[in-house]
Amino acid sequence: MQTTDKNAAHETGLTAGEEGKNPIEKLQETLNSLLKENEMLTRQVKRLKGTIERGNTTASLAANLVELRSAEQQRQEKFMGLLLDNSPDMIILLDQDGRFAYCTDSFLKKAHIDKFSLINGHFYKEVFDHFSEPGWSDRISSMFQESLDAKISIELNESADIGRDGNALNYSIHFTPMVDENGNVEGSVIFFHNITEVLRAKEEAERASSAKSDFLANMSHEMRTPMNAIIGMTNIGLSSSKSEKKDYCLKKIDDASNHLLGVINDILDMSKIEASKFELSFAEFNFEKMLMKVTGIINFRVEEKNQNFNVRVDSDIPETLVCDEQRLNQVLTNLLSNAVKFTPEGGSISLAARKEYEYDGICTIRIDVTDTGIGITKEQQKRLFNSFEQADGGISRKFGGTGLGLAISKRIVELMSGDIWIDSELGKGSTFSFTIKALRGEPAEGGSLLNPGVNWHNLRLLLVDDSHDVREYFQEIASRLKLSCDVAADGDEACRKIERDGPYDVYFIDWKMPGMNGIELAKRIQNHQMGKSVVVIISAAEWNSIESEAKAAGVNRFMQKPLFTLGVADCINRCLGSDGQEDDENGLSEDIDCFVGHRIMLAEDIEINREIVQELLKPTGIEMDCAESGLEAIELFKKNPGIYDIIFMDIHMPVMGGYEATRLIREMDDPQAKNVPIIAMTANVFREDVEKCLAAGMNDHLGKPLNMHDVMGKLRKYIKTFKGNDMRDALELH
Ligand code: ADP
Repeated sequence: MQTTDKNAAHETGLTAGEEGKNPIEKLQETLNSLLKENEMLTRQVKRLKGTIERGNTTASLAANLVELRSAEQQRQEKFMGLLLDNSPDMIILLDQDGRFAYCTDSFLKKAHIDKFSLINGHFYKEVFDHFSEPGWSDRISSMFQESLDAKISIELNESADIGRDGNALNYSIHFTPMVDENGNVEGSVIFFHNITEVLRAKEEAERASSAKSDFLANMSHEMRTPMNAIIGMTNIGLSSSKSEKKDYCLKKIDDASNHLLGVINDILDMSKIEASKFELSFAEFNFEKMLMKVTGIINFRVEEKNQNFNVRVDSDIPETLVCDEQRLNQVLTNLLSNAVKFTPEGGSISLAARKEYEYDGICTIRIDVTDTGIGITKEQQKRLFNSFEQADGGISRKFGGTGLGLAISKRIVELMSGDIWIDSELGKGSTFSFTIKALRGEPAEGGSLLNPGVNWHNLRLLLVDDSHDVREYFQEIASRLKLSCDVAADGDEACRKIERDGPYDVYFIDWKMPGMNGIELAKRIQNHQMGKSVVVIISAAEWNSIESEAKAAGVNRFMQKPLFTLGVADCINRCLGSDGQEDDENGLSEDIDCFVGHRIMLAEDIEINREIVQELLKPTGIEMDCAESGLEAIELFKKNPGIYDIIFMDIHMPVMGGYEATRLIREMDDPQAKNVPIIAMTANVFREDVEKCLAAGMNDHLGKPLNMHDVMGKLRKYIKTFKGNDMRDALELH
């Protein structure tokens, strides 16, 4: 600020001089006051300057802020746009009249609308009527109106075919009115969230949980039924004095116990699968022999239901394979028992095995099990391989079963790098097919299944069977064995052929044929050829039911259907082979192995188990010492190390268990201790249990519950056997 001259003159008093001060003093005073004023003004200028500068900064800050705000807004808008464009949920904004004001791309896409402008401003009902199934908009309109009237958000679960492409989905739909601060409805938002998958998963979970409950109820039934039979039949047997009645009860108890064992095994397998502890153990085995074991188990039931059962094994399947024989057997047994179970009396069942592919010694084997049974609907087929599932609870209850077999089979097949599937029609039957991969094994020594040392070259066979399939397959088997074979469809045709072409070396004759049955034909042939022919009766029926009649008619052997190359070769070997064996289980002589003069030790703490082994082995004449713990077993062995041919060793025993006892025996300083065969006899039957036994120094493993066949198998394997008459002689000597 500047001082005018007038003011300056006044303030300095140069004009007045009236206060009595000399001009110098007055000038000094004026100067001082001017200096003060200047100082004040400088400060004020400084302050004002600061204020001005600050004012500039604030302005620029304000400008920056405006810029920043709009960038942030743009960014947010951009993100909001992106969010809406990419939202899997469909969002629709309607104005207060219910007309389209905005929708997400997801809605346009689902409704197959090219661009928003086509629906912009259109009434929502009009749009929905056009782009969704007829009547759908009516279903949601009332909810929409309710939401607007009450000014509240309403949620609704509805299925809708938006886009009319036949792909109806389930949505959780929210109607939300947009209300301003004065309570006026400005518009509304409709929000569609696809819950199809969630609903499906929920339904699946509910179904699985109900299947598990059904399973438990079913399992309780499956276990109690045989238990009931066992307890009931035991009581009846105990109270009856007739031995026939007792036998009948025992037979029923045997059936029920085996059934119960099957149920328990299934449950154990399934729990192993669920705990991911299910594994295979691979070894070389003969494929046909394995099939023969399976059909041996099934035959009995096939016969009971008078069903027709055929097996066909293509010749390109290697004789031996490397795979898990026991588990493959389990899959086949399950499929075949289901086929028998779900096929009515007189129906047909077949098993066909072929090699699909081979590369580098790895074969893909395919097996089809077909039946003419009740069949399964497409809907039920989808769930069949899940655990605890049965096609139809009611039907399955009628037939029994756990619903675990197929799930276990599927797991086994998958572990064998294969697949399992079904082709079935309700009321017509089913085919269960599966593939597995297995390594080609070593072929049998000598390359032929027929015994060496015999000239098979001129051997002539005649097969008489009314089934075309059997005739065809038998000829295939004969050609695999390089034997010449004729076939006849009935007894009359067979007789004509014999008249015309002369006698054959071996006759394979079906027992049950229309017209002349097999035994009658056998009688005629033997009369005609003065009993010199070899006649083999083939039948699905058990030998016992026709044995005496057949023997009287001059039948030499019996061979059970279905036919196998191995079975036919074995039969010919036994009839005509150089060693002339005539005494196997299907021959006419008895099949009891004799172990007189041999001694085994049984280490087993439970009395009833010792009794079972003693009784099972009594007919063999073998002698047995018993120990009740591992320690006792060691002491017994020390007393007489050389006298035992085998030690059967239980695993869980008081004082000392089987593993430790075996280890201590093997550590003994005696060659017998190193060599004596020690076989585990235990209820621990899993693969790792078998491995543990071997690791402890045992030679082999027998699972409980014991069956005669397996026990005999081990005795034969580890002890030199005497058979047939030798046994009778030996028994008489003792
Ligand atoms: P289970 O036979 O013990 O019930 P599975 O898992 O072996 O258990 O079979 C499951 C279900 O599949 C059976 O209960 C039955 O409903 C159906 N099923 C299996 N095999 C056949 C078949 N050959 N014919 C008709 N239904 C079958």
